[in-house]
Amino acid sequence: MRKLLLIICFIGSASWLGAQSGTPKKITLFTNVQVFDGTTDRLLNRDVLVEGNLIKAVSEEPLAVIQTDNVTIIDGQGMTLMPGLIDSHTHLNMYKTGSLHEFEGTTWEEIGARAAAFAQEMLAMGFTTIRDMGGAHVGLKNVIDEGLLDGPRIYAAGGFVSQTSGHGDFGMLTQRKGETNMERLEIARVVDGRDEVLEGVRRNYALGAVYTKVMVSGGVTSLKDPIYASQFSDDELSAAVETAEDWGSYVAVHVFQNPDLKRSLELGVKVIDHGLNISEENMKLLVEKGAFFSPNLTALAPEALLHPAHQDPDFPSTKKFMTLREQSTNLTAYVKKYKPKMVFNSDYVLLTGVPYRQCMDFTKFHMAREFGNFWALQTLTVNGGELAKLTGPGNPYAEGDLGVIKEGAYADILIVEGNPLEDIKVIGASDKWFGAEPREQDVPSIKLIMKDGKIYKNTLE
Ligand SMILES: [Zn+2]
Repeated sequence: MRKLLLIICFIGSASWLGAQSGTPKKITLFTNVQVFDGTTDRLLNRDVLVEGNLIKAVSEEPLAVIQTDNVTIIDGQGMTLMPGLIDSHTHLNMYKTGSLHEFEGTTWEEIGARAAAFAQEMLAMGFTTIRDMGGAHVGLKNVIDEGLLDGPRIYAAGGFVSQTSGHGDFGMLTQRKGETNMERLEIARVVDGRDEVLEGVRRNYALGAVYTKVMVSGGVTSLKDPIYASQFSDDELSAAVETAEDWGSYVAVHVFQNPDLKRSLELGVKVIDHGLNISEENMKLLVEKGAFFSPNLTALAPEALLHPAHQDPDFPSTKKFMTLREQSTNLTAYVKKYKPKMVFNSDYVLLTGVPYRQCMDFTKFHMAREFGNFWALQTLTVNGGELAKLTGPGNPYAEGDLGVIKEGAYADILIVEGNPLEDIKVIGASDKWFGAEPREQDVPSIKLIMKDGKIYKNTLE
C-alpha cells in the first residue's frame, strides 16, 4: 500500500513547464497502473509521469500534478502499463501478396503506399519501434517523424546487400545484375567483389541507413539460391563490416549455415538474424562475442507446417523450409542454456491484412510458449531497445532509451488489459495461427498506445 501523496508543484519548476524554451511541454500523468518496466519479472505499483516525449518520473509514491490545459491525467484502472513493442526484423517495402517476382511489375508509388499501410498496421498492434531489415530507406521514416503519418519509429538498413544469385537477388532468371526493379528502386543491392560491396553499403548510408544488412547464406523465399549456399567471400563481408564501422554502426546478417554464422561472428558481425540451425559451438561463440540473436522462431513451430505456402511438397521454397526444420531441432535448448541477447523477429513478407495479423499474433504467442512470457516480453521491449543503440552516433532516436519504462526513456507506452507476464494474449498474442478468428486492425486488449509522448489510441474510458 502506498500511503504518501506527493504533490508535484510545476509552478516552481521552469524546466518542467518548458518555460525556458517558450511553449510549455505537454504533461501526462498515468495513475492507477501496474508497471511492467521491461526488465523486472513482476509488475510494479508505480505512477508514471511523461513530459513532452520523455518519461520524466516513475514513482513508487503517488504523484499529483496541478491541472492546467497542458496536463492530462490518465487513470489506468489498475491495468498494466508497459513499453511500446519493438519488432527487430520487418520489411516495410515487401507488404504485398504473391511471389517475389511480382515486385518486378510493381511501381515505387504502390510499394511506398503499401509500406505506409504497413507502418499504420504495426503501430495499431502496439509496435512503437521497428528495425527494418532491408529494403527501406528513410523516406517513410521522415514522413512519420514529421507527424504526417501514423507509424512506429524506424531503424532502416537501406537496400539489402546480396551477391549475384544470393538471397537478395530477386530478379527472374532472364534478368541480370542491374536489370531488376528491386535494384532500380534501391530496395536490393546486388553487388559482387569488395569494391561493389563498399559502393553499395556506402550508398545505403548516404540514403539514411543506420546499419547494414548482408545476406551470407541461402534463404527460403529466394529462388536462385539453394538453402545450403554460402554467400559472399570473407573479403566481401569484411568490406561491409568495415564500412558499417566507418559510420559508427554495425552489420546484421541473414544467415542459416553454421560455417557462415561462425565466420560472420569472427569478422565482426553484431547481429545474427535467423540462424535457426545454429550449432552449440556457434551459440557459445555468439554469446562470447556479445552479439544479438534474432531468430524468426515461428518457422520452427509445428503450426508452421499448415502454412498455405508450404502445402505443395515440390515447391522449391517448401523443400528448403523442410530441410531447415530438420536441421533446427536444438534451437530452444541452446537458447535456454546460453541465454543470448535475443530480439523479436517477425520477418513476414508477401503477406498483408488478416493473414499478416494472424502471423504476428501467433509469433508473440509462440515466443512465450517456447521461452516463457518474461523472456518473450524482454525480446519485444528492452532487448530491442538495446539493439537499437548499436547504431551508434547515427542513432536517429538517441534522446532516450527505448523498450523500457524508466526516467529519461522515450514515452513509448502501452496500457493493456491484464498482466502480460501471466497471459501473453493481452498484448494481442494468439494461440491459433491459420485457424485464428480474423481480426480487424485494432487490438482490443491494448487500451492505450502512446509514442513519443503522443497518444494514438485511448479506449480506457
Ligand atoms: Zn527478413
